[in-house]
Amino acid sequence: MRAIFIAVGSELLDLDRIDTNSLYVARRLREKGILMDMKVVVGDHMDHLSWLVKKSCQRAQLVIISGGLGPTEDDITREAVAAALKKKLVFQESIVADLQKIFQRRGMAMPEINTRQAFVIEGAEVIANPAGTAPGLYLTEANCQVLLLPGPPNELVPIFEDVFARHIAPAANYFIYSRTFKLTGISESEADASIADIYRKYRNPLTTILASPGVIELHFLGRSKNSDEEARKLTDELAEKVRDRLSRFIFADKDVSLPEVIVAELKRRQFTLAVAESCSGGGLGNLITNVDGSSEVFLGGVIAYANSLKTGLLGVTAEVLNKYGAVSTQTAQAMAVGVKRLCGAAIGLAITGIAGPGGATPDKPVGLVHIHLHAADDDKGARQLFSGGREAIKLRSEYAALNLVREHLKGLDNQVS
Ligand code: ATP
Repeated sequence: MRAIFIAVGSELLDLDRIDTNSLYVARRLREKGILMDMKVVVGDHMDHLSWLVKKSCQRAQLVIISGGLGPTEDDITREAVAAALKKKLVFQESIVADLQKIFQRRGMAMPEINTRQAFVIEGAEVIANPAGTAPGLYLTEANCQVLLLPGPPNELVPIFEDVFARHIAPAANYFIYSRTFKLTGISESEADASIADIYRKYRNPLTTILASPGVIELHFLGRSKNSDEEARKLTDELAEKVRDRLSRFIFADKDVSLPEVIVAELKRRQFTLAVAESCSGGGLGNLITNVDGSSEVFLGGVIAYANSLKTGLLGVTAEVLNKYGAVSTQTAQAMAVGVKRLCGAAIGLAITGIAGPGGATPDKPVGLVHIHLHAADDDKGARQLFSGGREAIKLRSEYAALNLVREHLKGLDNQVS
């Protein structure tokens, strides 16, 4: 089933208002295996909207239109849809009676202008609006379901849900099954390049790659007209092939964050962690302490932004700082060793880098970050060159440092087996 969403309203084009209705509707449709093919924002313009509805109904089996059902002159959705489908608008007295009751409850007389909302597209079902005055309208026209919804989200949701349950979901008739992998330590383009030859062979399941600083998500959505089992099999087949390729970067296959995974693993092994942060300015400690119960494993740390603190608190020698600089493998290593000793932790973790936009030198560009982990039986670091603005570089550094802990713990697993 092809689905198109049309958000109507000139304010959505240039007045800092954002169409969020389509996000809600897309998410609900997706849960039934209906993937939105297009969404369009159009101003309050009769001809544009009418043309768009006509074209949409030729291409799709489901056209959902939000906004422009109010009583004022610029609310033109009813007229535009009627024109597109070559239908009449008919006046429904019962809607006027309902509107009068709504205004009575508000202790006021119904303004004459609201009678415009009593015009209904010929043959459409009128869907009551429990939160406002504009009713929704639903009709089917030559194999296309058309739904008109009011713009305010609190009014749109109950009307959409009513029509979704009674008309849209039953017609979709899909079984769906979805899986997600969360990855770290790999960029979006690297992830795509390593699996493109696999997932591009499949139109079903649909693969989506989502990137945020430090974490890549892979989503697979399989659909079947026949059974749950078939949807699951299709999805599993692709997901397992992808897992084989990318397993060393996957930290979760459910909705948990990397800090949550790290804290849980540290708890399981009863390891404690301390952090020494320079360019991340406490962000790593913040990520860890956002996890409920992190106090069991996280001892704390030092924000050693100034070199004097790197030396005074963490014991990074002046010689190391002078010879290699504050952003170097040697300094990161000394910070990790220092914070481990200072806090009495099992693992010391350090970050030092140039978050920018200033501070770069010819051999040390913005985005250069050294991370380091020191434990009794392990000492490892990484030199990274991150892109993005100051905040993105800081966040990427924090996730890279957490990934170092993940690799350390995985290394211990491998030693056991
Ligand atoms: P009303 O009876 O309130 O006039 P309406 O159907 O005519 O209902 P609009 O006038 O188009 O709706 O929009 C009213 C308000 O609803 C907008 O100012 C905006 O705040 C919100 N809104 C409209 N469309 C959207 C959208 N696509 N996403 C999120 N909010 C929206």
